[in-house]
Amino acid sequence: MNNKEKINEILERLKKEYPDARTALKFSTPFELLVSTILSAQATDTLVNKVTEKLFKKYKTIKDYAKVSIEELQKDVNSVNYYKTKAKNIQEAAKLIIKNFKGNVPNTMEELITLPGVARKTANIVLSEAYGINQGIAVDTHVKRLSKLLGLTKNENPVKIEQDLMAITPQKDWNKLSNLLILHGRNVCQAKKPAHDKCVLKDICPSSSI
Ligand code: SF4
Repeated sequence: MNNKEKINEILERLKKEYPDARTALKFSTPFELLVSTILSAQATDTLVNKVTEKLFKKYKTIKDYAKVSIEELQKDVNSVNYYKTKAKNIQEAAKLIIKNFKGNVPNTMEELITLPGVARKTANIVLSEAYGINQGIAVDTHVKRLSKLLGLTKNENPVKIEQDLMAITPQKDWNKLSNLLILHGRNVCQAKKPAHDKCVLKDICPSSSI
């Protein structure tokens, strides 16, 4: 089985396992998703959702994030790690979006990565989940780990892993693949103890006996 055939098999099997795979982050606007995604670096989606539940009630518009004092915004997100930097990035992003994009979160990779705290992973999540645009594949820690275990890449660098995955995955499935690997990484193929025996990919995974 070559890697293109393998990825199609992985997609088919994981889609059956996780039919509703999508981001667990809660949001109702593209900017709210951007805020959640910035906060979610090295933090669980559950914690981020807990924080944003209150945050999104307090800050209704992008201008609210731009004009609040940085100390107050930092206090509002201080249960998340790196909250000082994250709050700063959120506020700077809000200001730049107002200044450069007429208050609308941009919908291209090139524009999104001009925002502070936004690299390709965050941009891919915003593009796919908020705008339905598959311009790349979000590579988080689960996607990175599972891609290597499944023999889909030999690279360590997330940008190179993304390129390897894009080369073998149908574009319509780019976002789906990321969400499926994340769910499978959380539920079955956990970093500390992958549950090979419960895994639907066992017979096509070169790491099933590790
Ligand atoms: S067989 Fe094991 S290592 Fe491979 S994807 Fe499944 S749980 Fe992970």
